Amino acid sequence: MQIARLSDLADPAACPRLVVKVGSSLLVGREGLRRPWLEGLVAEIDAARARGQDVIVVSSGAIALGAATLGLEKGGRGSLADAQAAAAVGQIALSGLWAELLGGHGLTAAQLLLTLDDLEDRRRYLNATATLTRLLDAGAVPVINENDSVATHEIRFGDNDRLAARVAQAARASAVLLLSDVDGLYDRNPREPGAQLIAEVHGVTAEIHAMATGDSASGMGSGGMTSKLQAAEIAEIAGISLAIANGTHERPVARAVEQGIGTLFLPRRKAAARKAWLGGRLRLRGALVVDPGAAHALARGSSLLAKGVTGVEGSFRRGDAIAIRDAAGRIVAHGLSEYDAEECARLLGTHSSEQADILGYAPRSAVVHRDQLVLL
Ligand code: GLU
Repeated sequence: MQIARLSDLADPAACPRLVVKVGSSLLVGREGLRRPWLEGLVAEIDAARARGQDVIVVSSGAIALGAATLGLEKGGRGSLADAQAAAAVGQIALSGLWAELLGGHGLTAAQLLLTLDDLEDRRRYLNATATLTRLLDAGAVPVINENDSVATHEIRFGDNDRLAARVAQAARASAVLLLSDVDGLYDRNPREPGAQLIAEVHGVTAEIHAMATGDSASGMGSGGMTSKLQAAEIAEIAGISLAIANGTHERPVARAVEQGIGTLFLPRRKAAARKAWLGGRLRLRGALVVDPGAAHALARGSSLLAKGVTGVEGSFRRGDAIAIRDAAGRIVAHGLSEYDAEECARLLGTHSSEQADILGYAPRSAVVHRDQLVLL
């Protein structure tokens, strides 16, 4: 059974495994941790478990909470050092509270602090998958955050929306529910009269992106919506549904699910697990630029041949994840390169019959093989 509407998020047949992401503003108010609200959410998690659903929590709030405790300005986001210190202080309290409240329902909390590389590196990604699977089998509720105290700018997700989508891929979840302080995606700045909440999105197109960014100058919380759309794209590639709903209400899951208030992004296809990982990669080592003929061939399911490659960017090694871009600069695919960047540069535009002489060894069948490629 597939997820087709928001109410399916509460149906264990359609959604056996749900990732719930909780935004900082829901967990931490001016007065500190919003315990009564969290008690309500934990009761909802317990109800989902009782229905037979696995639940994984992605909890923000460490930086906001730690900043309040330490008295750091700008909510702890004034500098990387502040954010790291704040997260260290906030995380310990945050996980303590999750453990206590879940424990009150007889549920065992399990903390995982992940960095970007834990999910970008294939071996570490599979390791995280194994840990999550084992925890869920053992009946625990994983409570996940980014390991903000050690992650630097270059190796950070920076937002828990994309982290939640990547975790959902790793855990082979059916859906992600992003709880934030907006009802969902609006067709324009929600403060403008006549703004409409979009109930369902089939594919995060340029038009959908424009809804989140078009009015950013006029004050819509578009930074927030931008990362949510990026999360929706990651989920989509993996065949996972993603919903955005307003968590500021008591019992936010019931409000979204029973009243259907929110935006549901439905995936168009289901990618194989390895391709889902590849498509959701955030950090790529370089890019190959391709001509229109090669872009067409890729769209039809072919491998990428050197003949259609017009440019090489970055300094990647054989086996690294790279982007494949068309002449207009649009990323059409992610793939694993069969050659180092420097070898790709020598093979540009060549036919396979010429390649043995150029390389000094028998060429591979393609620059990026179709089995190691995912169209975006
Ligand atoms: N990991 C951050 C924290 O716990 C939150 C990131 C986000 O705002 O999405 O404070």
